[in-house]
Amino acid sequence: MINLSRYWLDFVDLLFPRCCEACHKALVGTEEIICTSCRITLPRLASDSVVDLSVKNKFMIHPEVQGAFSYLIFTKKGKVQELLYALKYKGSQDVGKLLGNMYGQELKDQNLVPTADLIISVPLHPRRQKERGYNQSDAFAEGLSEATGILWSGTVLARMRYTKTQTGKSRSERYENMSGVFRINKREAIAGKRIILVDDVLTTGATLDACVEAMKGLDCTIYIMTIAAAQT
Ligand SMILES: [Zn+2]
Repeated sequence: MINLSRYWLDFVDLLFPRCCEACHKALVGTEEIICTSCRITLPRLASDSVVDLSVKNKFMIHPEVQGAFSYLIFTKKGKVQELLYALKYKGSQDVGKLLGNMYGQELKDQNLVPTADLIISVPLHPRRQKERGYNQSDAFAEGLSEATGILWSGTVLARMRYTKTQTGKSRSERYENMSGVFRINKREAIAGKRIILVDDVLTTGATLDACVEAMKGLDCTIYIMTIAAAQT
């Protein structure tokens, strides 16, 4: 039997070419958002690699942080940078949700999903969220939640200060810049719970560190997960 829907999709692709958000080549057939080749070859962060160890070391001073994981390695001008750019600046929330889904599925396949009660995302300042129209970390949280079955919330933490870009700042300046930026909106939602705290990209760790600081005293167990980690 002829698969008409397949032909129909090919026809639509001819009229309205869709491109892979990572390599910008045309998507074909049932491919969506990221092409099959990129999905397979995106640079996963290998456990116990130099970058992975530096991700884990960043949070060692916090006894409540039981683990820190990043899905991909961020390199300048690489595919992961393209994806994060699409997610943050081109309105492609779908990229975040898809990567959350892929990561959650891969963790599940390897039996590596931490036992947790709630996934929470690092919030944007309301002004930034209004400018962008969404929070990119919410998209990742939603995808992770879908794949793992762990509930998520984007409203547990609140960002109290509008901070300018961290780019070009030294490590200590970034920590100073982020100190006291976050407050807890819903203490009862996380007190005594096992929490997965998610963000888009991990560089120095200053943003996530400030979130962990805000959660002190609530007897939480925290796991950190980001879409990507940059070598710093
Ligand atoms: Zn591609």
